[in-house]
Amino acid sequence: MTAQIIDGVALSRRIRSELAERAARLPQRPGLAVILVGEDPASAVYVRNKVKACAEHGLHSVLEKYDAGFAEAALLERIAALNADPSIHGILVQMPLPRHIDPHKVIAAIDTKKDVDGYSVLSAGELFTGMPGLRPCTPWGCMKLIESTGQSLRGKHAVVIGRSNTVGKPMALMLLQANATVTICHSATPDLAVHTRAADVVVAAVGRRDTLTAAMVKPGAIVIDVGMNRNDAGKLCGDVDTAGVAEVAGWITPVPGGVGPMTITMLLANTVEAAEAAMATPARA
Ligand code: NAP
Repeated sequence: MTAQIIDGVALSRRIRSELAERAARLPQRPGLAVILVGEDPASAVYVRNKVKACAEHGLHSVLEKYDAGFAEAALLERIAALNADPSIHGILVQMPLPRHIDPHKVIAAIDTKKDVDGYSVLSAGELFTGMPGLRPCTPWGCMKLIESTGQSLRGKHAVVIGRSNTVGKPMALMLLQANATVTICHSATPDLAVHTRAADVVVAAVGRRDTLTAAMVKPGAIVIDVGMNRNDAGKLCGDVDTAGVAEVAGWITPVPGGVGPMTITMLLANTVEAAEAAMATPARA
């Protein structure tokens, strides 16, 4: 194996302990509200992990669970109440929502200052225009993983596989902002390997295992695996053939233990940042 493993668990631990110190310095604990509508088992695990991470790092969290039939209007009312609640600095509505609820409407209802998922049109606009703001957690975590290699992105060729609004597109913008030359690939890209073989950095965010194999990777490249899939044995795996690619790449993130823990870490980071901003500018009476 030539690649160094980028340990997302160890990096998370370091960042989380800094965040706990920042949270402890504030006059009031940073507060995160997590809303779960419906009974999707994967979503239930995600929200449980988010609430647990808050408790472990000195953040206050509120979990609101509603059944799958919860009305859209009622959800919007809850968001309005949380927008006005001074003990809450971040609001996260776990996706996917039941079909009768419009996710765009729900995300738009969240105060941009509390949009700790960074999914709103305004937050996306801030990222697009290079303004400060709350960044989507998964791509921001990927940036931290790349940064931890000590390699500068300036002038590097980065290829992002996937163009979702939550991962691929914001990832590409963050890499661009870090002065990489960026290519975005997607399901209509005819020859993925032509692009990935020329890349110094590959971020795979597809949702299909073995999308990136050793023959598709430039020797020494940094490979970030965002994917979360199951292999034939039912074990969690990413989009990358990790064993094969590790023979060629310079750095690689494992699944599990790479991007996953960093996503929650950056959610904590956004909540602390939102709390710091709120406490620096007290709301007018
Ligand atoms: P998504 O919305 O389904 O987007 C997948 C993207 O992959 C789409 O842009 C799609 O292209 C592209 N794609 C599909 N097949 C392809 C192919 N054969 N070649 C090239 N591109 C292809 O998924 P997502 O929400 O971005 O998530 C991607 C993966 O990351 C999933 O496995 C998800 O579970 C995982 N994830 C992990 C974390 C974490 O914390 N670890 C967080 C978020 C997501 P089109 O646009 O053309 O359809």
